Amino acid sequence: MSDSQVMFSLGPDQLPTHWYNLVADLPTPPPPPLHPGTHEPVGPDDLAPLFPMELIRQEVSTERWIEIPEPVREVYAQYRPSPLYRARRWEQRLGTPARIYYKYEGVSPAGSHKVNTSIPQVYYNAVDGITRLTTETGAGQWGTALAYACALFGVECEVWQVGVSYDGKPQRRTLMEVFGGTVHRSPSRLTASGRAFPEGHPGSLGIAISEAVEVAAQDPEAKYALGSVLNHVLLHQTVIGQEAIRQLAIAGESGADVVIGCAGGGSNLAGLAFPFLGETLAGLQHPRIVAVEPASCPTLTRGEYRYDFGDTAGLTPLMKMYTLGHDFVPSPIHAGGLRYHGMAPLVSHAYAEGLLTAAALPQSECFETAVEFARTQGIVPAPESSHALAQVRREALAARDAGRETVIVVGLSGHGLLELGAYESFLADALSDDPLSDADLAAALAGVPVLSG
Ligand SMILES: *Cc1c(COP(=O)(O)O)cnc(C)c1O
Repeated sequence: MSDSQVMFSLGPDQLPTHWYNLVADLPTPPPPPLHPGTHEPVGPDDLAPLFPMELIRQEVSTERWIEIPEPVREVYAQYRPSPLYRARRWEQRLGTPARIYYKYEGVSPAGSHKVNTSIPQVYYNAVDGITRLTTETGAGQWGTALAYACALFGVECEVWQVGVSYDGKPQRRTLMEVFGGTVHRSPSRLTASGRAFPEGHPGSLGIAISEAVEVAAQDPEAKYALGSVLNHVLLHQTVIGQEAIRQLAIAGESGADVVIGCAGGGSNLAGLAFPFLGETLAGLQHPRIVAVEPASCPTLTRGEYRYDFGDTAGLTPLMKMYTLGHDFVPSPIHAGGLRYHGMAPLVSHAYAEGLLTAAALPQSECFETAVEFARTQGIVPAPESSHALAQVRREALAARDAGRETVIVVGLSGHGLLELGAYESFLADALSDDPLSDADLAAALAGVPVLSG
């Protein structure tokens, strides 16, 4: 290895063979999801109308390692192991002694980490004979990832795209259609959940989830797929962190000091960080983990840790998670994938246990950092990923000021080549920061159900 090496690749034979389940190593078990009607813990039968049995099994599994099926590994091999890069030119620009490594998931067919879970989700549904999958999409990345996986396994894909994103990103819709998906603007007129809102409403992930769940629950041939939040989704993403740990070793590092990821529903952060956390719980390395969210949707930093619904209509189980309230409608910031009212129960639990930290950043700082990153590393980051990069920048500048060497690993969850409209606004100085007011936060939290006991 030369001193100037910047890319750390693994061979196809080093593709992880198992997913890592953090639950096996947690000091305390995460609180169970509750039935929306009875408030009793949900059982497999409650979830069976929405998910195939193998995914339900993974959702509640306490096994440490879960084998990745061969057909899934074959598709992973199309773009995995994904590269880990050292950001040398960005380090030089920042004048920092920090060593910055980014794990790049933009190499996937859909341009983000979401394909890591869409492939196994569609595979398990196809094996069960399911012919139609419904889902929601915010920025469009999840819809794209699911449509692609559905195309591979011969399953129909129907996507409810959050209104503002549908209106603002026609190319995202086209990409989903190229992969064979059908796309509806949410709130739509096709569901009771959608009809509860006026036509032209900007929509939210919570509303779009209600629509997709409602349709899947009514069609015995259909099931529903979620692109983040749930335990099985986080599980599938752990290929990211497992690879990164091996690649860091190849780079000559004994471990990471800081691991940073952006957090919308929490899946890419968990995918990168949970394998590191597993090493922490095993006493092998002790990186600080930072979840970065937008100041306008500050779930971990300003939300409450309570049982709440995953969707707006209250159709999903109640999950104990940091939440801003299930009818929270975030301001239309450009990082659509980070505009979710809740946070994965597993990430929430780890945060409540002090195993990870969080920061909330304004989008202007994120775009400034993204442009600086593009001009030094040659990759246009997804607006979501730019939040993680902005936190890296803060850490790298703090290391510079303290004259301290530090190893930073960051998840670059996707590229932003289909989000150039957002960059156009930023470069035209037309972006505003829209931090959440205390009054709006209190109003949204007032809708969180109050459970007895
Ligand atoms: C969806 C998405 C996110 C946010 O979702 P998580 O579940 O928090 O990972 C982040 N980055 C990109 C590129 C995305 O597509």
